[in-house]
Amino acid sequence: MANRPKTSEALKVVARCRPMNRKEEAAGYERILEMDVKLGQVTLRNPKAAPGELAKTFTFDAVYDASSKQADLYDETVRPLIDSVLQGFNGTIFAYGQTGTGKTYTMQGAWTDPEKRGIVPNSFEHIFTHISRSQNQQYLVRASYLEIYQEEIRDLLAKDQSKKLELKENPETGVYIKDLSSFVTKNVKEIEHVMNLGNQTRSVGSTNMNEYSSRSHAIFVITVECSETGLDGEDHIRVGKLNLVDLAGSERQSKMGGPGERPKEASKINLSLSALGNVISALVDGKSTHIPYRDSKLTRLLQDSLGGNAKTIMVATLGPASHSYEESLSTLRFANRAKNIKNKPRVNEDPKDTLLREFQEEIIRLKAQLEKRGMLSKKRRRNSRRKKVVDGEGNTEAEGEEDNDDGLEKNMENYLKEQKERLEEEKAAIQDDHSLVSEEKQKLLEEKEKMIEDLRKEQEATELLAIKYKAMESKLLIGGRNIMDHTNEQQKMLELKRQEIAEQKRREREMQQEMLLRDEETMELRETFTSLQQEVEIKTKKLKKLYAKLQAVKAEIQDQHDEYIRVRQDLEEAQNEQTRELKLKEEQDHEPPVLRL
Ligand code: ADP
Ligand code: MG
Repeated sequence: MANRPKTSEALKVVARCRPMNRKEEAAGYERILEMDVKLGQVTLRNPKAAPGELAKTFTFDAVYDASSKQADLYDETVRPLIDSVLQGFNGTIFAYGQTGTGKTYTMQGAWTDPEKRGIVPNSFEHIFTHISRSQNQQYLVRASYLEIYQEEIRDLLAKDQSKKLELKENPETGVYIKDLSSFVTKNVKEIEHVMNLGNQTRSVGSTNMNEYSSRSHAIFVITVECSETGLDGEDHIRVGKLNLVDLAGSERQSKMGGPGERPKEASKINLSLSALGNVISALVDGKSTHIPYRDSKLTRLLQDSLGGNAKTIMVATLGPASHSYEESLSTLRFANRAKNIKNKPRVNEDPKDTLLREFQEEIIRLKAQLEKRGMLSKKRRRNSRRKKVVDGEGNTEAEGEEDNDDGLEKNMENYLKEQKERLEEEKAAIQDDHSLVSEEKQKLLEEKEKMIEDLRKEQEATELLAIKYKAMESKLLIGGRNIMDHTNEQQKMLELKRQEIAEQKRREREMQQEMLLRDEETMELRETFTSLQQEVEIKTKKLKKLYAKLQAVKAEIQDQHDEYIRVRQDLEEAQNEQTRELKLKEEQDHEPPVLRL
């Protein structure tokens, strides 16, 4: 432990339970899951418990019961992570759980109802609001959306869906997906549009969306680049990358198909989730020297999020009813193990090859070209002087910008008008020049015509340049200038209050958890007894408590062992299948040429 850097930070794990659904209520299923929101604990009772079998209790960073609101989860747990991403940290949020327990509800929610919007739309709002309120910073936001299905990566934003994407590794920046498309987005509407596009692509390829999404992992990636002048007077760029991950259903895949007719993709999906489980186990057991990230696309892609340079949250989703006991227990165990992962997040400052730097350079290049054509002059400079006015009023800045864009067009118009007028005048002068013979005159006139034509072409080229310049500039977001904050004071106050309350709740819970731990310790430390009788009583109580704990641990070990065997079997099966496929392929490749007559 001692050699870990001071900045190491545990993976945050929270559990969320959805309400009973109508089917479960109609079928009269028992509720077997209880949550203590104040303490951050989940208690799961086995509906077929043997006499004396204890309910199992798990403690997490926070728990959200059936009555919890989307905003509760966002404000308490997610908001701090997004704030970190805006500061240049990497962040990842996973939703893990059985199909039908609320992974997609938690990540996306119901978009049309503001109260039911999930983590993804809330984070869009959060990111762009933050930028609109920022000062003296330039932001560039872009989004990608991909899916892992049957161990293949699909770009949900690409036109050509048949293309399979590959993972590559860069010694500087780590693992990345080659040729993955990404879109620069200037506001909430644009990034929502990107998300919708991807969601549509996702649903088009599948006949049964439910089954499909239960087998695929969807990852929405937002990259936020921010440029700011540092104390050293130099421009610095920080890059935060956010992965929003809706994992495949954690249920055992064999349940899905009938016995013997196991769907082909089952083992492959298992492979990614098994690999995730194995990576987590290897990370937390403290003895593993090898972390098997390379076993699956998912774990390779999210390597940084698991024990690396990222802040990570796992939301374990659960159902409340008795029929999902086994799956709920398995989810809780998985989440419990993940709690022990330590990450080493740091701000990504001045990495090579940022898109923002590329944009800045391109803007400078276009600006120089426009200046050369006489299109941009003093007005721009006046604007850059304005930029230095700290706390300058947003309004004036905005007007300045408008002024400037108008100026660009006016400049161009004037310049062209002048040039054209000059040429026309020269043309008229030639016309009137009686000393020229008509052939000569014709030649000179043609020359002038050509010059006017060239001027027109130049005008077109300049217009294109100006359009490009404006488009590029509009993508670099500057708070109060090309991205405005439309929340009023009252809304801002409410927001702040909500955040304060969330912070308070978090602290209270931490204190409660701390106190619980202390209680157990003090009980062991209370060594003074007033009488022998009392000593016997207290020690008996302690013994009982410890015995119960021992039983729980024993049961846990047995369960973990069973699970280990199950996972290993799954992996072996997956491996066998892959070997079979490989063989088949080899056989096909080596088949003797067919004799054609
Ligand atoms: P998953 O993505 O894990 O398969 P879904 O998000 O699709 O599960 O949720 C299954 C159903 O339960 C959906 O109809 C969803 O609206 C509902 N649901 C899930 N979680 C909640 C919740 N916390 N509150 C209300 N309804 C929920
Ligand atoms: Mg889903």
